[in-house]
Amino acid sequence: MDLYEYQGKQYFARFGIPVSPGGVADTVDEAVVQAEQAGFPVVVKAQVKVGGRGKAGGIQLADDVDAVRRHARAILGMDLKGHVVGRLWIERSSDIAKEYYASFTLDRSAKKYLCMVSAKGGVEIEEVAATDPGAIARLHVDPVDGLSPQAARALVADAGLDEEARRGAADVLLGLYRCYTEGDCDLAEINPLVLTTEGDVHALDAKVTLDDNAAFRHPEWEEFAGTDTSDPRERLAKEKGLQYVGLDGFVGIIANGAGLAMSTCDVVEQVGGKPANFLDIGGGANAAQMANALEVINTDENVRSIFINIFGGITRGEEVANGIVEAMGRVEIASPIVIRLDGTNADEGRRILAEHGSDKLESVATMIEAARRATELAQGAAR
Ligand code: GDP
Ligand code: MG
Repeated sequence: MDLYEYQGKQYFARFGIPVSPGGVADTVDEAVVQAEQAGFPVVVKAQVKVGGRGKAGGIQLADDVDAVRRHARAILGMDLKGHVVGRLWIERSSDIAKEYYASFTLDRSAKKYLCMVSAKGGVEIEEVAATDPGAIARLHVDPVDGLSPQAARALVADAGLDEEARRGAADVLLGLYRCYTEGDCDLAEINPLVLTTEGDVHALDAKVTLDDNAAFRHPEWEEFAGTDTSDPRERLAKEKGLQYVGLDGFVGIIANGAGLAMSTCDVVEQVGGKPANFLDIGGGANAAQMANALEVINTDENVRSIFINIFGGITRGEEVANGIVEAMGRVEIASPIVIRLDGTNADEGRRILAEHGSDKLESVATMIEAARRATELAQGAAR
């Protein structure tokens, strides 16, 4: 789950990363109250889960109440790359001497965390990464060893941060590392990390992606749930306890086991189709899970056909068949279903489906033929 900047900053503060004092505002009047509380000059910042707000006009400095009103009025309701601004963050403006960059993310191929630091932070960081990659210092951190204060200091020096910023920046890196690991982030990024003219170092922006798989050990994340803007299909699937990843194709996919679900996506691609999703209903898929899976896929307006691919080991064919029949009774399934049912009690399952006798349902014997048929139905269908 991605956090808004203000949530990210509140999260940073828990790990001792310094941020500017400020508050949220949903109206122009609230913006004025927050500005007076923070102390002028302030910066009025659009809260949307998309980068490049500054360049798009979503971040404005204000010296007095009139300017706050003017900017708050202009920014609330503004469309920033398809995201409409409904909330502002007002904070005391910083007197910036230098803008740096710092982040932690996971380098899967190295099987380590990756810390990146640059003296050339700010709104042009993508440009820096593309044209001057040497300006970004990188450090792989082994999760077993963690990040030592010495390594943090060496990295900020290596990145060429100004002498007077190094101690503060190294402290920020140590806090950011704790935020990333103990705070269970997939990404923790500060751009810009600033050195002010008074000589202190703090986070002026926050980009935090929480690792949803760690939600069970963070009851405090509940407060973020109401502001989650992730794929509604994925949210619904999660509520129903399904392993689901939304994709942008048109063949809905249900399989038992993650490996089979991935292979099913591949096979659909191979025959010229496009998967609308990955969905694993689990090893012991039962009738209720199958019904839930079909309901989730049914909410996806891009789906033109559904391919159910079940190989029964623990999963029993008749359970799966009953689930499909039950789901078809529960909801009006919009798309034709192609099912390949094999393994434990497959014959019994096929018999149940045949008895059900729905013209929306076709049994096909092999995986590749079923993928072909589902793709063909999707291409022929207009919903
Ligand atoms: P982004 O454009 O979405 O990444 O938003 P940021 O929060 O990173 O702000 C963009 C830019 O606005 C920063 O790089 C700064 O140059 C500027 N900015 C943000 N906050 C302040 C502030 O407190 N004072 C000043 N002078 N500039 C700021
Ligand atoms: Mg930024």
